[in-house]
Amino acid sequence: MSWFKRESQELDTSGEKKVKTEGLWVKCEGCRQIIWKKDLEENQNVCPKCDRHFRIDARARLALLFDDGQYTIEDANLSSTDPLNFTDLKPYSSRLKQAQSSTHLKDAIINARGKLNGREVIVSAMEYSFIGGSMGAVVGETITRAAEKALKDRIPLIIVAASGGARMMEGTVSLMAMAKISAALARLDDAKVPYISVLTDPTTGGVTASFAMLGDLNIAEPGALIGFAGPRVIEQTIRQKLPEGFQRSEFLLQHGMIDAVVHRRELKNYIGRALQWMT
Ligand SMILES: [Zn+2]
Repeated sequence: MSWFKRESQELDTSGEKKVKTEGLWVKCEGCRQIIWKKDLEENQNVCPKCDRHFRIDARARLALLFDDGQYTIEDANLSSTDPLNFTDLKPYSSRLKQAQSSTHLKDAIINARGKLNGREVIVSAMEYSFIGGSMGAVVGETITRAAEKALKDRIPLIIVAASGGARMMEGTVSLMAMAKISAALARLDDAKVPYISVLTDPTTGGVTASFAMLGDLNIAEPGALIGFAGPRVIEQTIRQKLPEGFQRSEFLLQHGMIDAVVHRRELKNYIGRALQWMT
């Protein structure tokens, strides 16, 4: 006689497992805690435990800034012609195709028009997941068009930077974008139409060296990496150890490189208030 008797049949192990937990959790690099993805999304992709700002894509950024997440996309038909017929590890043209199919964008930028706290604005938001948000001829032309429309209609321009810098696969053509955008912003400045630059993680290279630092107001999200050359390059050049938090928003604010560090939760209202006294 056995002590325990199995009442039912053997455990049913047939059929597919229906419960999937993969991708439901993310690890925060700031506090090393495991966070439920839904909690993170509901908190505008800011860690509910340590306030670390996770990167968000251009569409999420636009939804965050415009009233009721409503906006119309403009200038979305431009795509790179690969002027140098460039190949590194693989052809630039196939990198472009891959990025286009994964982001459903033609290039690393979206121009959008809509209302921010009831005021009409144009927002140009960069997409970091498109070849590192790099700035080539298309990004240059798209942002320039946004600036020109802002000038023509006399409505404020907001550019949200998220970029590794100029797109090296377009060589010097990409560097021309710096001058082109800067010239368009200068015309906007002459006409006294406000331009607010929002620097997000990361904003580096030629983007920092041009339009990202040319705002009437340059504001950054907390903890964002902002700089021109990377820290390792600088250390090797000056042969000195860099201070803690170097090239992060808070450090740049302390040293007068930017005007404010604004929490993502406050960003929209901060811009809204700024535009109120600027216009
Ligand atoms: Zn955290």
